[in-house]
Formats: sequence, structure tokens, C-alpha cells
Amino acid sequence: MISEKMKEYVENGSAIRAMFEEGKQMAKEVGEENVYDFSLGNPNVEPPEEVQEAILDIVQTEDPMMLHGYMSNSGYEDVREAIADSINKRFETKLSGKNIVMTVGAAGGLNVILKTLLNPGEEVIVFAPFFGEYRFYVNNYDGVLKIVPPNTETFQPDLETFEKMVTSKTKVVIVNSPNNPTGVVYSEETIKKMAEILRKKQKEYGTDIYLISDEPYRELVYGEIEVPYLTKYYENTIVGYSYSKSLSLPGERIGYLVIPDEAADSEAILDGANVATRILGFVNAPSLQQRVIKRCLDAKCDVSYYNRNREFLYEGLKEAGFSCIKPEGAFYLFVKSPVEEEKVFCEAAKKYHILIVPGSSFACPGYVRIAYCVSYETIQKAMPYFKELAKEFGL
Ligand code: PLP
Repeated sequence: MISEKMKEYVENGSAIRAMFEEGKQMAKEVGEENVYDFSLGNPNVEPPEEVQEAILDIVQTEDPMMLHGYMSNSGYEDVREAIADSINKRFETKLSGKNIVMTVGAAGGLNVILKTLLNPGEEVIVFAPFFGEYRFYVNNYDGVLKIVPPNTETFQPDLETFEKMVTSKTKVVIVNSPNNPTGVVYSEETIKKMAEILRKKQKEYGTDIYLISDEPYRELVYGEIEVPYLTKYYENTIVGYSYSKSLSLPGERIGYLVIPDEAADSEAILDGANVATRILGFVNAPSLQQRVIKRCLDAKCDVSYYNRNREFLYEGLKEAGFSCIKPEGAFYLFVKSPVEEEKVFCEAAKKYHILIVPGSSFACPGYVRIAYCVSYETIQKAMPYFKELAKEFGL
């Protein structure tokens, strides 16, 4: 028999993954071209050419013993130095290679840092709507998840409620901006106020509260939007970055954590993250991908592709009568369901072979997430069906 904890995980498994499987089944029945699968955040823009070239060149020219061998659990030193330099140039930080821990994507990084920081029973605050996998990551280390309810006017964090929810047991606050599932970028004003609250609460309780900034969508922003770099606003910030979306490499599992010197007990956290990487069984982030990243620090995927999808989908849905905030980043639209029970709406969409994810998966019922990292043609073909759906629900 499997463990009680795992049994529960399996029973309450990811609705998004389940829908992905459902989509595959649907495709078998009606043909792939007739399924409009907006369920999964799987990038459909090709990785930049530099990435392909780097892979080929590295395999052909670099020392294979060095390339495929074990290394320090935190990753290759030269890669970490190069990443630190690149962040310093972009955000005027003062990092060095030792502040960087290479990770197995953002998910690996979050697990490493939560394992490093959390004692059982300590609280982790998140802001709804949030990436549902956080529930599992926090539960993995017996942390207690505290959810700040959504502010559905702006989808910026509700800081008044947040302030009341910080207790002496609060160890970690996780933010994710640009946000999955809303596409909202947390403003500088929001970040400054949040930092003020955290400092005040640390003083009040005599504790250290760590702000983890989960940033897989940092590079996916539209227009002139600036995404604040949080280490500049609050000392106890740890950044989790991933190349899954920025370079369209989700299957390659590569990212990093930034643990700055200013963070309380940074040396101990760095040592802890190094050990956590090993004992969680990652051992180290994939070696080939680390070497690729060193050569592709300035590479970018084609964000204009997602922008075209965003504009068309947003305008089309608005015209059909749906309401939603125009996303400034990531590749998701978070749309108000025309009925309170949004799962009813998602089920109705399936009639047209449209797959969208209920907001309750992100602790925000009454909304649905549409991932527009699909082909433009898919959105064009799906639009008449979205319009049919709108009529069906009296919009
Ligand atoms: N955090 C957020 C907010 C995400 O949306 C995702 C993936 O969709 C992840 C973390 C995990 O990213 P990775 O594939 O880099 O592990």
C-alpha cells in the first residue's frame, strides 16, 4: 500500500494534468486539429537558435569527461559566476557565483529552498490565485499553507488581509509575478508595501521571514512593463528562476536560485540548499543544460508570438461578452466564468472540444484559466466556439 500522504496526492492530483490527458484522448477521437487545448502552460514558441547551436557545439567541442561528470551539488562554478554577472548587469545587484544554486527548473528550486527553510508546522503565505503545485511543495516539508484571498478587482495581492495573516509562525511568503494564472505583474508599489509589512512583522515577532520570488515568467512581458527585482526591496528575498518558459525548455529542467548575502543566515541557507539539492535526489542540475545556459544568457524566445495571441484572444473574448483583466505578462488569460460554479462552464466548453482550467485549481473559483501558448490558428479556430459558449451562457 502506498503512503497516506501519497494516496491523498494521487486522489487530489492536478486538474491541469488530468485535462492534458483528456485532451490527448479527445484528439484520438476527433483529430488533433479539432481539439482546442488551452489547459497546459507548455511553450509552443521554439527555443532560440542560439540554444540549438550551443547544444551541438558543446557536445562536439567540450571535454566529455567534464561535460557528463558529477560536479558541486550547486552547479558549475563558471556557470554560476556568469549568471551572477548577468543579473548584476541587468538589475544592479552585487551577486557572485556563490549566491547562485543551479536547480532542476523552478519546481526543483522551490523544493530545494522550502526543504532548506521549513520546520514542520511553519507557515507559508501565498496569494490567491496561485500556481496550485505550491500546495504539494509546502506539504512535502510539512509546512502549513496560508492563502490570502484574491483581490479580484486588480489581482494585485490584498496587503491589508496579508498583514493580518502574518504570524510568529510565518517563515516564507511566495510571490509569483508575472503571475500564473492571471498574467498580472505585481507593481513596484505593491512590492514596497509588502516589504514594509514584512519588516514590521519581523521586528514585532523577532523572526526572519523569507520572501521567495518565483519567476519563471520574468522575460515574458508585453510593452514597456518593468518587473521589479525583489532583492532590491527586501533583504530576505530569495529568487527562483527558470528557463522553462523564457527559453522554451521546460523538458530540460534547468533554473537557479539566488540567495543574496543580505538574506539573514545566507551562508547557512546556501549550505542547506547545496545539501537539499543532493538529498532530494537531484544531486545537481543537468550538466549539459548548465553549459548551454552559460552561452545563452542573453538569448530570448520570440515574445511577439505570444503577444499576438494575447491581443487576439483578449479582444475576441471581450467582444463575445466575457470579462477579464488584460494580462501584462506570462501566457495566461484569467477569465470570469459566466456562472458561479466555473466547473460547469469548463464542462460546457468541452462540448466544443475547448479545454480550459477551473480557477479553483488556483484557489480562485468563479474564474477559468486559458493558456494561450498555443498556435495562433488554434485561437482563431476556437474563437467562434467561445462566441457560441458566450451565447449559451447568456452573455
Ligand atoms: N512556478 C510557476 C508559477 C509555474 O507556472 C511553473 C510552471 O508552469 C513552475 C513554477 C514550474 O516551472 P519549471 O518547469 O521551471 O519547474
